[in-house]
Amino acid sequence: MAYEHIVDQERCKGCGLCVTACPKNVLEIDTEMNTRGYFPAHQARPEDCIFCAICATICPDVAITINEIAAQAAGAAKRRK
Ligand code: SF4
Ligand code: SF4
Repeated sequence: MAYEHIVDQERCKGCGLCVTACPKNVLEIDTEMNTRGYFPAHQARPEDCIFCAICATICPDVAITINEIAAQAAGAAKRRK
């Protein structure tokens, strides 16, 4: 089973907890503000993500979700990056 990692850019308040907690240094704070005036996190190096879900667990705003996706969809998701 493959996984996709999603940061809800509008829910994120840019606290940086996930950036610090990620063991693979995948996440960074964006340089563009969201509509609430925060700089949200994003996956700067998605190819390094091991889908450990530490970031999703630590996020106080439940802004990160990791979904199981079918292998075919995983290929499409990878091509979109
Ligand atoms: S799932 Fe794990 S490796 Fe991937 S961004 Fe989150 S903390 Fe980092
Ligand atoms: S921990 Fe949550 S709210 Fe904080 S920067 Fe990461 S995604 Fe955004």
